[in-house]
Amino acid sequence: MNNNRLLYLMIAGILLGILCGWVFGKTMESVSWLGEMFLDSLKMLVVPLIISSMIVGISGLGDIRKVGKTGLITLTYFMATTGIAVGIGLLMVNLLEPGATIEITQDKIPTNVAGKEAIGITDILKSFVSPNLIHSMAHMEILPLIVFSLVFGAVLTTLGEPGKQAIAFFDTVNTAIMKMVHLIMYFAPIGVFALIASKLGAAGGGELFLNELAKIGKYAWTVILALLVHGVLVLPVILYFVTGRNPLVYFKNLAPALTTSFSTASSSATLPVTIECAEKNNQVSRKASLFVLPLGATVNMNGTALYEAVAVMFIAQMLGVEMGFAEQMIVLVTATLAGIGAAGIPEAGLVTMVMVLQAVGLPLEGIGMLLSIDWFLDRCRTTLNVWGDSVGAAVVDTIEKKWIEKGGND
Ligand code: ASP
Repeated sequence: MNNNRLLYLMIAGILLGILCGWVFGKTMESVSWLGEMFLDSLKMLVVPLIISSMIVGISGLGDIRKVGKTGLITLTYFMATTGIAVGIGLLMVNLLEPGATIEITQDKIPTNVAGKEAIGITDILKSFVSPNLIHSMAHMEILPLIVFSLVFGAVLTTLGEPGKQAIAFFDTVNTAIMKMVHLIMYFAPIGVFALIASKLGAAGGGELFLNELAKIGKYAWTVILALLVHGVLVLPVILYFVTGRNPLVYFKNLAPALTTSFSTASSSATLPVTIECAEKNNQVSRKASLFVLPLGATVNMNGTALYEAVAVMFIAQMLGVEMGFAEQMIVLVTATLAGIGAAGIPEAGLVTMVMVLQAVGLPLEGIGMLLSIDWFLDRCRTTLNVWGDSVGAAVVDTIEKKWIEKGGND
């Protein structure tokens, strides 16, 4: 399908989904199966895509010193942009003080974070490996899959001819999966429509949504404003100055991925579309997109980290707890780590927020105040997560080409 036509149809799908969910409310839950089919078709591709992408990506980078440098640039980009995002979140929440005039009315720990109190930095580190790869695949635990495939791909490059043949096999797998993504995208406009309409419908339609929004509206606006500053100012400036690309064109070419992320609230489920848009529409080199994007969808979450910082400060403000410079620095570090630790699935950020709250001694009950509209903010932050990953792919691609290939191997 022509790229522009697909884009317009997807945007129409989202708008129609909002309209129908808004007006018809719970009735729209009847189309949720269509949305789930779209989501599941994408998810179905994620495991083979991650494995083949990481293997092809790492073997495409060449010798181990280049891999090291590219890896370092990628991680530096991830950490720096996530840190900046959290900084923007903190700045906004200090300026706008959304929690100053609100009283906490929830005294229960929400079920999805109850029992998660023990999550800490060591748990995040532990999640890099898994005792059973099949279990990880079955439960969409992507991080161990990435680690395994990276090491597996690196080892294949040292095995001579047989290794090359194995890499060629995964290369073909990857190409075939990307063709399947292409096919699924024909279904995307209907899929995004159904996802949005049924979700907004399940939340009770437009009126109920507005009521919920009114209760903690200033908080929602603070999050959205901060996400916008990072997404519309910071990332495009980085993209422009490092790669010389036109941010508007890059954004437009990426729109199918951004609309998918908004509809699915999952970076991992969006990954197939993100790779397709980066490679085909934006001509980011295959090795850079295959290396950076799966990693990014799993560990680089600008939106999630920013959101967690704002949310934690909002809870502190509601409780009247003074957060000094030292506490905010702790929020900065732990929210960055929480972004890394959050899985690319819906509302994962709520769970890793426990770590940030505990680091500054705030009660978990505060999360209850955020629940009613989290499904919406989740979509907004996931879209920024995917935008951040995609800018990262272009940045790493350019630096790789300009500085590593041309500059030799020193
Ligand atoms: N839903 C987000 C993502 O998939 C994670 C989160 O913030 O909950 O990127």
